Amino acid sequence: MCLIVYKSFSLFLLYILSFTPIMALGIDVGGTKICVVVVDGKEILEKKQYRTPKKEVIPAIRSIIQNYEEDKIGLAVPCYLRDSICKGAPNVKSLEGKRLRDYFRDAYIINDAAAMAYGEYVLRDEQYEPLLLISLGTGVGGGLVIHGKPYKGKGSGMEIGHIKGFSGRRCDCGKIGCLETVLGGKYVENLKERYIKAKNGDKESLTFFENYGVTLARGIAPAIQLLDPEIIVFGGSVSEAYRFFFPSLKNELRNLLSFITPEDILFGRAKDFCSAAFGAAVLAEGHERRL
Ligand SMILES: [Zn+2]
Repeated sequence: MCLIVYKSFSLFLLYILSFTPIMALGIDVGGTKICVVVVDGKEILEKKQYRTPKKEVIPAIRSIIQNYEEDKIGLAVPCYLRDSICKGAPNVKSLEGKRLRDYFRDAYIINDAAAMAYGEYVLRDEQYEPLLLISLGTGVGGGLVIHGKPYKGKGSGMEIGHIKGFSGRRCDCGKIGCLETVLGGKYVENLKERYIKAKNGDKESLTFFENYGVTLARGIAPAIQLLDPEIIVFGGSVSEAYRFFFPSLKNELRNLLSFITPEDILFGRAKDFCSAAFGAAVLAEGHERRL
């Protein structure tokens, strides 16, 4: 009798569990903002933003996690990662040198641009790939989704912001002339003000974004030539100015690409400003294999 009751209870428990949503927490640590989402499948149930603390970021991430009950956690970090060690994080220096696995034992840890690329891939009804993601924020990041998975290289692939030859300026990665030094919000003065002015038709600001588009084209053209993407998505805060830099970007790409024309490629803006957090959460949920 007891055994029957036990078996029935176990079956009942299994039945309940099969209908319990697998929710996951996604956290994207950016240079200025930390984006947090709660995800159920492909649906964002909750979204919050915090300011990135100037000094120690790890305690801030830990206290955010404590506010949630989800045990599946995806953590997107602006790091060049190798074996969960943050080898370099020019825009959140306090993460540098930290073995993130020691602080976030069960989390799925991924480079932020790779997470954003995956998030944008999942958010689209059509699963376009290869999907090249260019993140234009404090710094410049790159991500790629290929064969339905984020490309990670040996840790963090696609560090497009640190290809050289764009200026004589020292980048926070320690080297000189990175693409990031001419396009990143950290290095380009008054980007936000310029965007507001451009919206009001200010000629100087419109010319600034025209030049921004040309430089961006020069930065991403080698990646396009090598990867032959189906779609290119622009994310990050500077992508708000997409309509001001896109025409010159497209024109310049026409000059810089062989065999591929910009008309062969789909272009678009990120669908969600928290798509890196979303992508990390979906990966943590284990949907990567099922998609
Ligand atoms: Zn650099």
